Amino acid sequence: MNKAKGHLFVVSGPSGVGKSTLIRRFLSEDKKSVFSVSYTTRQKRPNEIDGKDYYFVDAETFKNIIKKNGFLEWENVYTYFYGTPKKEVLEMLNSGKDVVLDIDVKGALSVKSRYPDAFLIFIEPPSRNELKRRLLFRGEKEIEIRLKRVEEEVEKKGYFDYTVINENIDEAYRAFKRIIEKIREERHGKDNS
Ligand code: 5GP
Repeated sequence: MNKAKGHLFVVSGPSGVGKSTLIRRFLSEDKKSVFSVSYTTRQKRPNEIDGKDYYFVDAETFKNIIKKNGFLEWENVYTYFYGTPKKEVLEMLNSGKDVVLDIDVKGALSVKSRYPDAFLIFIEPPSRNELKRRLLFRGEKEIEIRLKRVEEEVEKKGYFDYTVINENIDEAYRAFKRIIEKIREERHGKDNS
């Protein structure tokens, strides 16, 4: 594979750590980056928009995309399927855009194995209690399932290139931006050497 012009930033970490808030804020300020919209079989939440937050599809449609090798990676997360569209991401990278993925830890590791140029950024929750508080609006049952998964996911943070602890959203955002700037500067330095 030729070296793509854009960077692939894979942002991952347990649910409820504020990944999407960080990413939304970053994308609203950084015009060089675009968000990769994933496919999912889960139900749309009231505040979500089809085609913007996710492509909401049924299991059959999802399986057809798997068969056609249309995902860069896909996972079964909390009993639903989630997948990153391959063609769109590679096209955006080749057009020179930086692409941001918001995916689970397993998905992030498989992206890295298929696309070693990806940069993996782990967003770590401040404490389990705070995380629980942030997850409250998702309903008791869902919280239990998600908290169990947190421990498994935090164990894998050693595989990531960078970690941001989200104790305070403004500080986390600054740390996140510094990481992106550093990656861009390093690449720029290499390209000019
Ligand atoms: P939610 O249902 O809360 O939107 O997302 C649940 C989890 O699925 C989050 O950790 C999110 O990052 C992850 N996720 C979203 N899209 C994808 C994807 O395309 N692939 C994988 N592996 N995980 C995803």
